[in-house]
Amino acid sequence: MKRYWIPFLVSLFPILTLPTLGAQSPPKLPKTSVRAEIQAPSVCALCIRAHMEFLASDAMQGRGSGSHDEQVAATYIASEMRAFGIAPGNGQSYIQAVPLLRRKLSAPPVLKLGADASLISWSYGDDFVAARLSQPGFSGPLQKIRADAALKDDTPEEPMVTPGAVVLVMGGSSAAIRRAAFGAASAGAAGVLIAGRKEDFAEGNKLPQLPARFQGSATPDMGGDINVLQLSEEAMARAQQAADGTQVSLEAPSRQEPAYTWNAVGIIPGADPTLKQQAILFSAHLDHVGIGQPVNGDAIYNGADDDASGVTAVLEIARVLGQSSKPRRTVIFAFFGSEENGGMGATYFREHPPVPLPNIVANLEFEMLGRPDPKVPANTLWLTGWERSNLGATLAQHGARLVQDPRPDQDFFARSDNYVLAKKGVVAHTISSFGLHAQYHQPSDDLEHINFPHMNSAIGSLLGPVRWLVNSGFTPQWKDGGRP
Ligand SMILES: [Zn+2]
Repeated sequence: MKRYWIPFLVSLFPILTLPTLGAQSPPKLPKTSVRAEIQAPSVCALCIRAHMEFLASDAMQGRGSGSHDEQVAATYIASEMRAFGIAPGNGQSYIQAVPLLRRKLSAPPVLKLGADASLISWSYGDDFVAARLSQPGFSGPLQKIRADAALKDDTPEEPMVTPGAVVLVMGGSSAAIRRAAFGAASAGAAGVLIAGRKEDFAEGNKLPQLPARFQGSATPDMGGDINVLQLSEEAMARAQQAADGTQVSLEAPSRQEPAYTWNAVGIIPGADPTLKQQAILFSAHLDHVGIGQPVNGDAIYNGADDDASGVTAVLEIARVLGQSSKPRRTVIFAFFGSEENGGMGATYFREHPPVPLPNIVANLEFEMLGRPDPKVPANTLWLTGWERSNLGATLAQHGARLVQDPRPDQDFFARSDNYVLAKKGVVAHTISSFGLHAQYHQPSDDLEHINFPHMNSAIGSLLGPVRWLVNSGFTPQWKDGGRP
C-alpha cells in the first residue's frame, strides 16, 4: 500500500549530473549545483525500472514465501545495498535466514460432509481442490452465506459468519465470491467452500502447499489461518442441499521438515553522536505468492505491485541515502520474507533487530505503490493508520504528498509488516497507493499493469521528506488509543 509528487523531482531531471566515480576526468560542476543536487535528491527512473524488471520477472516465479526464489530476491537486494554503500545489517551479512518448519501433506486430503449413514466423502482433485490451505485439517458446522448479499458497492460488508463454522459461499460474481470468502476467513471461519471453475481442476490432484510455521510457536501477529476449498459442480450442488449445522471436515496426513524464509537487512550508522541512538526503519516485503493456479494460462503470480513496487521504493531510498552525506540518525533498510504468510520475516526481525527495538523511532513500510489510487489526488500516496500517530501529518508538513488511507474499512494498517512492529510499540505505518485493483493476488499483477510515471513521481516526491526525517530530531508519537 502507499504515495505523491514535487514537480522538480520527476525523472525528467537528468540523472547523470553527478560526477561518475572512476571515469576519466568527470566534468567539473560548479559548487552551487552540487549543493543543489544534495538538497534535492532526484529519483532514478532507470533504477526503478531495473529493480521492477528483475523482481517481477517470470524468472523469479512469483517469489513464493520461503522459496528459493525468495532467497534469490533477498540476494539481489543485498547486492544492490552493497553497491549503494549500505553496511550489512545482520552481523557480517545482509541476509537474515529465518528458521521455520515447513509442513507437507503426505497424501491427498479428504473432505467429508455429514455423519454416519448420510456421510459423503469427497476426493481431492476430482471433487475439490484447495485455493489456499493453511492447515492439514479443519472441521466445523456448515454455514451457508450468499456472496452478493455480503456486498455493498466495493465495500465488503462482513457477512455474519459464526467463528469456527465451515462457510459455504453461494452465488455472485467471482469477485464477489472471492471477497466474501476472504471476509469469512478473516471473520474466523474454520474453512470456506466456494464453487470451483474448470481451470481450478486443471492440475488434477497435485497436493496443496501449506505455509511454513515458526518452530514451536503459535501463529504470528498478522493474518491467520485461511483455508479456502473450491468444489466441483456436483459437490457444490450437493453441499448446497445440506442443512446449516451439518458437520464438515477436512483431513490429511502431514509431516514437518526444516525450512527458511529470507530477510535482507542493511544499515547506515548515524553520523550524529547523539541522534545515532535513534533509528528510522524503511521496509517492504520481498515475497509474493509464487506459482499458483493458472488464470488464462498464466501460473506465475509476479507480484509486481505487491510488493516489488515497495521493495523498489525502499531500494531507491537506500540508493539516495547511501550515496549522499551520512544521515544524522541511524537508518535501517529491511526487506522481509514471508509477509504473505503472516509477517513471518518481520516477526523474526522484530526479535533479532540490528539495534534494540525501542531505538527504532519510526517504521515506514512500503506496499503496492505501482499504480495510482483513484480515490486520492494524482501523484499522492496514503498512509495506513494516519490518525493513530503524528507521523503522517508531520511528513506531509515537510512536503510529502501523503494523505489518510481512504479505505479504513479494509484495515490495511493491520495487513502488512508495519503491524508486526506496531504491536511492540514502534510507531509503524504503511505507505501505499493500492486502489483495490482487480489484479491483486492474481498472475496479472505483472509489469504490464505498472504505471512507471506514477512510481517515479511517488517515490521521487518522498525523497526530500525522508531525508528530512533521517536528519531531524522529530520523534513520532502514538496518539491516545492509537497504539494497537
Ligand atoms: Zn503486500
